[in-house]
Amino acid sequence: MTVIESQDHRDLRAAVAALGRRHGQSYDRAALWAEAGKLGYLGVNLPEEYGGGGGGISELSIVLEESGAAGCPLLMMIVSPAICATVIARFGTEEQKRTWLPGLADGSLSMAFGITEPDAGSNAHRITTTARRTADGWSLTGRKVFVSGVDIADATLIVGRTETASSRGAAPALKPCLFIVPRDAEGFHRSVIDMELQAQEKQFELVLDDVRLPADALVGEEDAGLLQLFAGLNPERIMTAAFAIGMGRYALAKAVDYAKERQVWKDPIGAHQAIAHPLAQAHIELELARLMMQKAAALYDAGDDAGAGEAANMAKYAAGEACVKAVDQAVHTLGGNGLTREYGLAKLVTAARVARIAPVSREMILNYVSHQSLGLPKSY
Ligand SMILES: Cc1cc2nc3c(=O)[nH]c(=O)nc-3n(C[C@H](O)[C@H](O)[C@H](O)COP(=O)(O)OP(=O)(O)OC[C@H]3O[C@@H](n4cnc5c(N)ncnc54)[C@H](O)[C@@H]3O)c2cc1C
Repeated sequence: MTVIESQDHRDLRAAVAALGRRHGQSYDRAALWAEAGKLGYLGVNLPEEYGGGGGGISELSIVLEESGAAGCPLLMMIVSPAICATVIARFGTEEQKRTWLPGLADGSLSMAFGITEPDAGSNAHRITTTARRTADGWSLTGRKVFVSGVDIADATLIVGRTETASSRGAAPALKPCLFIVPRDAEGFHRSVIDMELQAQEKQFELVLDDVRLPADALVGEEDAGLLQLFAGLNPERIMTAAFAIGMGRYALAKAVDYAKERQVWKDPIGAHQAIAHPLAQAHIELELARLMMQKAAALYDAGDDAGAGEAANMAKYAAGEACVKAVDQAVHTLGGNGLTREYGLAKLVTAARVARIAPVSREMILNYVSHQSLGLPKSY
């Protein structure tokens, strides 16, 4: 890994930035998604033999960061190509790869990802969505919450757990398994959650009521579920970092432009250090977060899942905090205009918080680093 971006990466950044500028903040999500897919950006991390670009999460994170920096973040990239397609590419059967990957790569198909449950939240060990074997496949029963984009995705990759012989009778051991559930499967009910977010992608509560699935709805091997899950979660964290950095850069750029123009004393407000320094600080913190994101992506792409885990968590933490701070300072820089619809920054105050909460909260990352990196004892 080098900290200096390759020419290919810089070219990719410039090309996505140009696409983002064409679509802008009032973008049509579906149109942008289709165009990005056609240009190969959504599948840049997927194997070439299945229609992808043959790159990695390093390239995919550039695409999401630059679309966000242009004000039109492709949020579903965090789940569709980064988690779902990665898991299928690494662990899926040949048929699953042929069925899903070319469409996920060119954007003609997309997949949501459902792990969060109302009674489990940050504690994934408490997941109760259960898969039982039937004569010809599986029956899935449970509930999920806050799952993004279920209405626009062709299917949702649902994290459930199977009942194993060893767990029967005793306290059930966590044995996660991943199932591809088509959007219109019978018994798969969704209701939209009334969020304050103004994002184009909605969040859903899901009820899985004896959803009958064919045997091949299970991704890969039943016994490799945990491994598969972790293979998808590191890209998710790296991509959330990209989402946060993109949003932070967008807000910062708006604030800097405004601070150069707005004049209420003899110089533009950007000449006041009380305005300039927090913006400079936000820029530094976003750049630092990107460095950690690039490290995490490089480790992941080099096949070091364990090393990528720590870096991906740290990158998500740093980017989430930098984003919240950048957006807050941007809104403040615009004074009253920071809260108008016209300038489009106020809605980011809520959106930025997503990067602090999801997919894993700031506190759970601090727990991870306390325990895994520093070896401190656990309180829970
Ligand atoms: C906009 C949005 C989109 C989302 N999209 C998806 C999606 O597509 N798919 C999906 O599966 N999920 C999705 N989520 C869910 C998200 O991953 C969860 O909200 C997140 O994991 C936190 O879970 P929770 O909301 O249940 O909070 P809780 O687990 O209830 O936590 C509440 C608070 O308690 C703190 N806390 C909990 N445990 C500890 C502890 N041990 N130590 C210290 N503090 C602790 C947390 O940090 C947090 O601040 C989305 C959420 C949002 C807001």
